[in-house]
Amino acid sequence: MRTLRRVAVVGAGTMGARIAAHFANAGVPAVLLDVDAVAAQRGLERAWSGRPCGFFTEAARALVTAGGIEECPGDIGTADWIIEAVTEDLALKRALWRRLGAAARHDAICSTNTSGLPLARIAEDFPDSLQRRFLGTHFFNPPRYLHLVELIPGPGTDPRVLAFVSDFCDRQLGKGVVLCNDTPNFIANRIGCFFGATAYTTMSEGGYSIEEVDALTGSLIGLPNSATFRLLDLIGLDVWAQIARTLHDAAPGDAWRERFAAPSFLTTMLARGWLGDKSGQGFYTKSGPGRELHALDWRTLEYHPASRPRFASAVEARKIERLPERLRMLLAAGDRAGEFLWKLFSDLFLYAAERVPEICGRVVEIDRAMRWGYAHALGPFECWDALGFEAVARRIEGEGRALPESICRMLSSGASSFYRYESGVEYFDLCQMRWQPLEARPGIITLASERRSRGVVKENAGAALIDIGDGVLCLEFHSTGNTLGDDAAAMIHAGIEEAARNFQALIVANEGEQFGNSGNLPMVLLAAQSGEWEELDAALQRMQQALLAMKYAPVPVVAAPFGRTLNGGCEAVLHAACVQASAELSMGFTEASAGLIPATGGCKELLLRLGDARRAFEIIATCRLSNNAREAQDLGLLRKTDGVSMNPERLIADAKAAALSLASHYVQGVPRTDIAVGGEAGFAAMKLGAWTQWRAGRLGKVDFHVAEMLAHVLNGGRLSGPQRVSEQYLLDLEREAFLSLCGTAESQRRIEELLRTGKPPRS
Ligand code: NAD
Repeated sequence: MRTLRRVAVVGAGTMGARIAAHFANAGVPAVLLDVDAVAAQRGLERAWSGRPCGFFTEAARALVTAGGIEECPGDIGTADWIIEAVTEDLALKRALWRRLGAAARHDAICSTNTSGLPLARIAEDFPDSLQRRFLGTHFFNPPRYLHLVELIPGPGTDPRVLAFVSDFCDRQLGKGVVLCNDTPNFIANRIGCFFGATAYTTMSEGGYSIEEVDALTGSLIGLPNSATFRLLDLIGLDVWAQIARTLHDAAPGDAWRERFAAPSFLTTMLARGWLGDKSGQGFYTKSGPGRELHALDWRTLEYHPASRPRFASAVEARKIERLPERLRMLLAAGDRAGEFLWKLFSDLFLYAAERVPEICGRVVEIDRAMRWGYAHALGPFECWDALGFEAVARRIEGEGRALPESICRMLSSGASSFYRYESGVEYFDLCQMRWQPLEARPGIITLASERRSRGVVKENAGAALIDIGDGVLCLEFHSTGNTLGDDAAAMIHAGIEEAARNFQALIVANEGEQFGNSGNLPMVLLAAQSGEWEELDAALQRMQQALLAMKYAPVPVVAAPFGRTLNGGCEAVLHAACVQASAELSMGFTEASAGLIPATGGCKELLLRLGDARRAFEIIATCRLSNNAREAQDLGLLRKTDGVSMNPERLIADAKAAALSLASHYVQGVPRTDIAVGGEAGFAAMKLGAWTQWRAGRLGKVDFHVAEMLAHVLNGGRLSGPQRVSEQYLLDLEREAFLSLCGTAESQRRIEELLRTGKPPRS
């Protein structure tokens, strides 16, 4: 069994420096080498100070050292894994590997990070001993955030080396691993490049504008908001052109090859150095006194103020929440939006189907590569299923276009989708022309499949209880934005009761976009404006008591937060006996920005967790959010003993394992009555601090008032001196302060502003 003590990353550019950073995030020390020490240090600095930051914490940054390749040959010779990430140039990579291969330890793993150069060419004259340890690792940019890593075996890669790298990338680096054939641009960039090229080909043929294409190819169809042209600006037009050129030149047998030739507007933009964000202009630029967004007219290559296109079908489609139904509606629409999207998707389907088995043996890898590498909500075949396999095939045929042979055979076999869920998950094998079971992925639980296989124990509009096996029950919040209201409170009580009777432990997890975004601000505002103080107080009490019951449940409760875990979501996590967090975790409180304070146990729990009113005050008053789970531990929002899952797909299974391990020795707690608070003196000191900030103009009037109320709660109210109080005492203070703030016109204005714009004014 291998262990990685140290890796060497060669090439400290966009990718290399951030790959080194991510190994450090996983706790593996890395040496980062470039042509000289200055270049390496510059790369390291960019990975630290660039946005987004490649590192989790300063401790991770301290694990990376930078140096020149000539000055540090010893670092190559002692590394357990050498990752080469130099410029995409076959001759350069081949020449470099002659030196790296000779200097590497005889058992070191050796990998090249390439976007699409053939592994067989890079490894052509390698000795056998190096061939066995050599493979391609295609990380996506930025490596910390994009889930996909493509692994490409070279001509002689030892399957054990491949298995180790695959497992390491999955568990330690948290990546979704897809195995690819050694074909030009592998999987994601082959399909992704076709998709982008089809978007601009369809644009030119149909006379659409840049803004129209972006309006149609973003979140509307389950793609990131960067859509098509904002994404190209982000990637860099030169990088994009190189990916397309590789395909054009290296895939002569590709019947769609001409689509990869750069259109004339792209060629001119490249010649003018309009490379996108990195050069300040691309398909978009910011200009004018207010740096307003301008878009390019691709016909004249002149910029104009960016418009906000409206398509009737898109407006209607936005009202449909479920993506498959929305796509069905859009692609059936006869307007310009429908025509564009049908052309885009039907070409994508044909192209993807024709690539099996050339780029990989199964449809599964193509779907995963597009979901994980390009953040598409559905891969091409999943999308085809969503639209109806037969209906799409017949429509293409009806237009006189030929279907790939594999699809014709699939139609005659009677299969009516690429995936089916009758007994477990199966996919249709386009090579064998039969259904195959999708392999189990140990350590990965999805609530969707647990729902299908075991059913739901109990459910209401805001939450559900799902049996996830082995004596563990899952409480899933699923209201819009996962706001925690009365439905959630009722289900917390039901979950505790059910778990105490029939299970060993309860986990709190969900598969939404965020773990839990906020409390129910519109409800709070409405109640405050209509003076329904008793109702508001009662609603807060219900949630306080639900979270208290969770904290003191007879079985352990383990929370599995990820993404944005704010306010109500954060309070729920703070009440769990133990936390298994996703590494990417933005956790904390933003109530102060709405002129409020946490009032369902957040102030109390943070005070208990930190044992320090001043630090709790700072975190809440300044709306300090963690950038990741390790930072949440440093801030004290999570315990150092709480688990962190690098791979978000493993989070629920990891939380279940943590819950079972805790259940074996769990002792139910009792509410605390001994919480030390500072009383009047502590309050006065904190208020003075806030007052000084206000007078110096660093704090607005509303912020000062919020700070005063927060200081009041965290010091136990106006007690004559330091004392010990109960949890319930602090909960009562939280509600009282919250209601008092809600009653002020300033806080109500802030909430309104926040709801309207998403951004509160600082005043
Ligand atoms: P880059 O141009 O940003 O950085 C390349 C670095 O390699 C430079 O710092 C350069 O000084 C260094 N270098 C060149 N020759 C060297 C040598 N002989 N010894 C040591 N260092 C040397 O490139 P990048 O964008 O980081 O790409 C690196 C690799 O990753 C390429 O193969 C690219 O195709 C691939 N890739 C890039 C992206 C992306 O979005 N940028 C995404 C996935 C894969």
